[in-house]
Amino acid sequence: MSESREAAVGTVTERPAPAFLADGPKKLLIDGDWQEAAGGETFDTIDPSTETVLTRVAGAGVEDVDRAVGAARRAFEDPSWSGLTPHARSRILLDIADVIERNAEELSVLETLDHGGPLGVTRSFVDSAAETFRHYAGWPTKHYGQTAPSAPSSFNYTLRQPIGVCGAIIPWNAPLFMAAWKISPALAFGNTVVLKPAEQTPLTALRLGELLAETDLPPGVVNIVTGFGHVTGEALIRHHDVDKIAFTGSGAVGKRILEASTATMKRVTLELGGKSPNIVFADADLPRAAATAAVGFCMNSGQVCAAGSRVFVEESIVDQFTELLTQRLSALPVGDPFQPTTFMGPLNSKGHLDRVTNYLDIAREEGATLLTTDNPLPATGYFVSPTVVRGLTNAARVAREEIFGPVATLMTFSDVDDAVAKGNDTEYGLSAAVWTSDLSKAHRVAGALRAGTVWVNSWGILDPILPFGGFKQSGLGRENGPSVAEMYTETKSVMIAL
Ligand code: NAP
Ligand code: MG
Repeated sequence: MSESREAAVGTVTERPAPAFLADGPKKLLIDGDWQEAAGGETFDTIDPSTETVLTRVAGAGVEDVDRAVGAARRAFEDPSWSGLTPHARSRILLDIADVIERNAEELSVLETLDHGGPLGVTRSFVDSAAETFRHYAGWPTKHYGQTAPSAPSSFNYTLRQPIGVCGAIIPWNAPLFMAAWKISPALAFGNTVVLKPAEQTPLTALRLGELLAETDLPPGVVNIVTGFGHVTGEALIRHHDVDKIAFTGSGAVGKRILEASTATMKRVTLELGGKSPNIVFADADLPRAAATAAVGFCMNSGQVCAAGSRVFVEESIVDQFTELLTQRLSALPVGDPFQPTTFMGPLNSKGHLDRVTNYLDIAREEGATLLTTDNPLPATGYFVSPTVVRGLTNAARVAREEIFGPVATLMTFSDVDDAVAKGNDTEYGLSAAVWTSDLSKAHRVAGALRAGTVWVNSWGILDPILPFGGFKQSGLGRENGPSVAEMYTETKSVMIAL
């Protein structure tokens, strides 16, 4: 690929220093108080652009998780929360949205420092987090039970009641946004929360915890326990007084949560990984399809569960499309996430960089041709160049396993049936995209793909109005959309003899 001057964003320079980082190690939010871990554990959180420590954070142990769950249980039963009118709950959610917006710049800077996403991307995540709270503010006042047809001697109706204490476990790829996706529906339906952020990116959740104190949310309704998955996460998923686990992350941990849930029959929703097909027909607007395909696997450095990481192109246009796609990749600026022109920052951690580069080695060993850019990368930080893998089939490991980096496998198909068969030939089913100017073809393919979300002539648009989640091993249940009410409430039937 040819080098593009535009794409060189240069070295990582000065870092902003938000006041939030200046006042010592971060604590756990339990019952409205900031508390140290009982065992005194702390761990570092790292800036992936500079490989330096941002601050230390408390590592919650079993005892701390138990205290957080106890606080959430008391708050769940306390009339200061359970006795609120739907209007009052709605106002609190609106206030949370406002307080996020008032502090959006600080939250975006913290997210870029901790996670590595370009400021433009983290700003949009923060905006989306506020919008998510605003969306859920509409639910408490518009959430009805039903009356059921009855014999004259009986009046029957249903109530939708909160489930109770929800353990929310989130990954590091969109930290504040994921926290909003978990906290806002839980609160809208009257539940309480113990949130465990990913160990790599705890900062924006903790800052959100501080900001919640500026609203009328009673103490203990949202608790935040930072720490490691195998300690803090395990304590939460095994806790006998947690009623529900809402999880976003890997399939392996999702399966573990499902197993652990059987002990107390916890309700579980899982949003897991993907290996999403991006299917481009010859009759599509090819420059747009190529530009969006590049975004589809490079946005957020490819650390997106819905990334279009398997690009299927109709045989007749594969050379033309490959040229368009690789030109596009060369023009994507990779580098310092605080530079306004940067499209792609680093990967989130050293471990993840090793994982992604290992997959590139595997692709080479399997005989692939790797099309990558020759733009310079900063000397420090966990940066990787966007890469298209060609010459392999859908059976290759890099076409089957989630890489979660800016890497796509480019393959071909012959017709609609072949495209659908190859698109569906995966254990995942989170999302898919279809590019065509033929409306009938778009509808047929969208209907036939086994995926929770299908984008036609677009990619990556998320709207809390629509359900999001996976077919097959991409998850269990849905977030957002009308069905979210079932995910955060229990239904009670009441029969009154007249
Ligand atoms: P992960 O290892 O599953 O971690 C996700 C969260 O689970 C983290 O908070 C982690 O804690 C915690 N965890 C780890 N082990 C645990 C255990 N034994 N018990 C309880 N909690 C535990 O996933 P990841 O590698 O960080 O995230 C990337 C994955 O998330 C990808 O597979 C991606 O597709 C998926 N993802 C899916 C969606 C979606 O909506 N479907 C969205 C984003 C990401 P620590 O980090 O502290 O270990
Ligand atoms: Mg970090």
